[in-house]
Amino acid sequence: MSTALETEEHQALRAAVAALGKRYGRDYMTTVIREGSHTGELWAEAAKLGYLGVNLPEEYGGGGGGMAELSIVLEELGAAGSPLLMMIVSPAICGTVIARFGTDEQKQKWLPGLADGSLTMAFGITEPDAGSNSHRITTTARRDGTGPDADWLLTGRKVFVSGVDIADATLIVGRTEDARSGNLKPCLFIVPREAPGFGRNQIDMELHAPEKQFELVLDDVRLPADALVGDEDAGLLQLFAGLNPERIMTAAFGIGMGRFALGKAVEYARTRQVWKAPIGSHQAIAHPLATAHIDLELSRLMMQKAARLYDAGDDVGAGEAANMAKYAAGEACVKAVDQAVHTLGGNGLTREYGLASLITASRVARIAPVSREMILNYVSHQTLGLPKSY
Ligand SMILES: Cc1cc2nc3c(=O)[nH]c(=O)nc-3n(C[C@H](O)[C@H](O)[C@H](O)COP(=O)(O)OP(=O)(O)OC[C@H]3O[C@@H](n4cnc5c(N)ncnc54)[C@H](O)[C@@H]3O)c2cc1C
Repeated sequence: MSTALETEEHQALRAAVAALGKRYGRDYMTTVIREGSHTGELWAEAAKLGYLGVNLPEEYGGGGGGMAELSIVLEELGAAGSPLLMMIVSPAICGTVIARFGTDEQKQKWLPGLADGSLTMAFGITEPDAGSNSHRITTTARRDGTGPDADWLLTGRKVFVSGVDIADATLIVGRTEDARSGNLKPCLFIVPREAPGFGRNQIDMELHAPEKQFELVLDDVRLPADALVGDEDAGLLQLFAGLNPERIMTAAFGIGMGRFALGKAVEYARTRQVWKAPIGSHQAIAHPLATAHIDLELSRLMMQKAARLYDAGDDVGAGEAANMAKYAAGEACVKAVDQAVHTLGGNGLTREYGLASLITASRVARIAPVSREMILNYVSHQTLGLPKSY
C-alpha cells in the first residue's frame, strides 16, 4: 500500500501500529469474541504505546496530534484484523469534546485517563423514536433547583450505545427542558456507569465483535452541576466537534476492515488452483478485487482530507469531507468484504477462514453513526443545494 503522501512520522506511526496489530491480529480477536470477553490487553498496550491518546493534548498526557494520526491507528489495527471500535467514541468523540469544550476540572479528570487507557468513555445519542433524526431526541435534562450549582436530573432512553459495560462513563446527548421544540439544542452530560437510575440492557446483536450494544434507560439520573460539558447554549457546536471525528474514525474502521478482507482474498486467489492457473488469474476474480482496492484507496484520500481540514480547525469543511469519507469507506468496506467472501468460494463461509462474519460487521460502516442515505441527503441539500423531501 502506497503511503508516500504521508509525512515520515505518519508512515512510521502506520508501520509501528501495523506491527502491534500483527502481534494481536484476527486470531486474538476471534478468541476474545468467542469467550465473550473484552480487548483489554490490546487496549492497554495500544494506550501504553501512546496510540490511543495520539490526538489528545500533550499537557494531559496525549500525543498532541489530531485525527490524521488517530485514524491511522484505527485503520492499521483494522487492517490487521483487530479493530478497536471504542476508539471511535472514547478518544475521538469524547476526548475531543472534553479537550475542546470541557472545564479545567473535566479535562484533568478525564483526559489523562483516556490517553493512558485507564479510563474509557462511551457516547450515546441514538434514541429509539428518533433514530437518524437527532432533532427528535427527547432525553431531557432539568435542574433540580435554581442557580448554576443545582444538580441535573436526566431522563430518557437511548439505543445501540456501544461499550457501556466497559466504559467508566457515557457522554449522553440530551436537551434542556426549555429547548424541546424546534431545532435541536443539545447539551452533553458525563454520566458515570454506576449512577443510580442509569440502567442498561444488552441488545442481542447478530454481530461478531467484542464491543456490545446497549439500550439505556435514564430515570431521573441525578448528576452534579459539573456533569454538563461546555456551554448549555452552545451544545450544537460542541456536538459537531465530536461528530466529525466520529465520521473520520468510522471511515478508518471501514478502510481497515476492507483491507483486511481484501488481503485474505488476494492471498487465497494467488494460490488456489482448480484449472490450469490460480483463480486470481481469472479476470472475473481479479477485477472486482482490483476495484475494491481502488475504492479503499480513494476512501482513504477523502478520509485524509477530512482529517486535515478538521485538524486545521475548519469544522465546516471537515463536516462535508468527513461525511463523504464515511460514505465512501462504508461502501468500499461492504464491497471489499463481499468480494473477499465470494473469492474464497465455500471457504468464504467457513469459520476457519473467518470472513463470513465480516459480512455483518462491514454493514456497521454503512449504517453507523450516520447512514448512507442520510449522507446522500446531506450532500444533496448542503453541497448541491437540492430541495428537501423530509
Ligand atoms: C454496531 C452499532 C454500534 C452503534 N453504536 C452507537 C453508539 O455507540 N452510540 C450511539 O448513539 N449510537 C450507536 N449506534 C446507532 C447508529 O448510529 C444508528 O443505528 C444509526 O444512526 C441509524 O439510526 P437507526 O438505526 O435508528 O435507523 P433509522 O433512522 O430508523 O433508519 C432506518 C433506515 O431508513 C433510512 N432513512 C431514515 N431517514 C431517511 C431519510 N430522511 N431519507 C432516506 N432514508 C432515510 C436510513 O438510512 C436507514 O437505512 C450504533 C449502531 C450499530 C449498528
